[in-house]
Amino acid sequence: MAPQVKDYYEMLGVEKKASQDDIKKAYRKLARKYHPDLNPGDKTSEQKFKELNEAYEVLGDEKKRAEYDKYGRSPFEQGGQGFDYRTYTSGDRFDFNGFGDIFSDLFGAGRGPETVDLKGPDLLMSLELSLEEAFSGVAKPLTFSREAVCKDCGGSGAESYQPCDKCKGTGTVSSSKGFFRMTQACAACGGTGRKTTKACKTCGGRERMLHTETIKVKIPPGADNGSRIRVRGMGGAGRGSGPSGDLQIEITVREHPFFKRKNDNILVDVPVTFGEAALGARIEVPTIDGVAAMTLPAGTQGGQKLKLSGKGFPSAKTGRRGDQVVTIRVAVPKNIPDRIKGAVQEIEALYRESPRKGMVKSHE
Ligand SMILES: [Zn+2]
Ligand SMILES: [Zn+2]
Repeated sequence: MAPQVKDYYEMLGVEKKASQDDIKKAYRKLARKYHPDLNPGDKTSEQKFKELNEAYEVLGDEKKRAEYDKYGRSPFEQGGQGFDYRTYTSGDRFDFNGFGDIFSDLFGAGRGPETVDLKGPDLLMSLELSLEEAFSGVAKPLTFSREAVCKDCGGSGAESYQPCDKCKGTGTVSSSKGFFRMTQACAACGGTGRKTTKACKTCGGRERMLHTETIKVKIPPGADNGSRIRVRGMGGAGRGSGPSGDLQIEITVREHPFFKRKNDNILVDVPVTFGEAALGARIEVPTIDGVAAMTLPAGTQGGQKLKLSGKGFPSAKTGRRGDQVVTIRVAVPKNIPDRIKGAVQEIEALYRESPRKGMVKSHE
């Protein structure tokens, strides 16, 4: 008994006179709705999705559509079973046979003639940032090449093709052995069900091409040396219906002339004069996000560390900022004119206590 044959136009819910654009739109909308990844375990959706693909494979192709309008379904079906898409080639991922162009922008997946679906390789790039950029976060344009599914042929490698003679376009061949029927991928077409009549000019039939991409990468605040940013789907093209790999961007932070980062803290050496250290002062110090005022207590020693709370890097975990640790350096003039020499000698004469008291046995 012949199964009920549905009309392809009905399946997509479009008129007989619908434009290619309308057909594409209707297909996309329905494919999104019934996609097996979005309806796991739902047999009805799965069947519906298969039917949609079958309808779109024909109506989405001007030549096949014309044939269909003229002759009905016959050129594309086998014994009333319709087109077999060799569903679920690996795990439960649907095999998007022949729908590269649609699915590459729907789901980021492309396909070639291989029957194995593999995620594409990850790409690794390095990106150098200044410490200020790493601190505040930055959006940077990045240009790179990656292997992508050919946009002109959608990864089929063909400008035009016809159903494979050997398997009549099903992609599988059956043989009988006693009671058993064996179904195998067709060797003549590699299981694609297609025979290329004209290779795609853009990719020369290679299905994939090197694509120059320019993307804007957003680096969140607080990136450290060796931090990695992952941009999903921007790596090499997948095999079969496997998704593209990812782009991984490794951050290198340039050395800063005076700031150093340690965990979430920022370390900086700040020179002060002898007078500022001895008498105390209100001084201005640089921080990663502007100048800050700091009180130097009277009697501050060289090498003493003072803390500016909350002036460090934002923590990757909590977002709370670390501290800035200021190490005081007492600057000593190198060439002292005679009149100053005299003043310094006066201070020395007034200040008799040895700073090395207790370290060295005094000769005094
Ligand atoms: Zn191509
Ligand atoms: Zn074949």
